[in-house]
Amino acid sequence: MTQRQITHVEALPTCKQGHAARHIFDARRAGAGGGHLIECACSQTRKHADFTDALAEWKRAHRIRTPRQRPEPASNLVQLGLRFKGGHAR
Ligand SMILES: [Zn+2]
Repeated sequence: MTQRQITHVEALPTCKQGHAARHIFDARRAGAGGGHLIECACSQTRKHADFTDALAEWKRAHRIRTPRQRPEPASNLVQLGLRFKGGHAR
C-alpha cells in the first residue's frame, strides 16, 4: 500500500455537506501519481505536492472561509464544488 491516511491533531474542515474530510498521502513520487489529497464522502481534491496546497484547494472547492481570506468575487462561485464521485453508499 502506498496510500495512507494522515491523522491531524486538529480536524480538517468539513465539506459543504458536513462530511468529515480525510487527508490522504500517496507515497509515490509526484510524477508517478503521488502526493497529498483531501477527500470526503462526496468529493476529493487533486493530488498536490504539499498538503497546504491540497488544503487550499479543499477550502476553495467548499468555500470554507478563513479569517485571512478575502471574499471571492461572485463570478467565481458557480463552477467549484460540484464534482461528485459515484453514488452515495448507504
Ligand atoms: Zn462531502
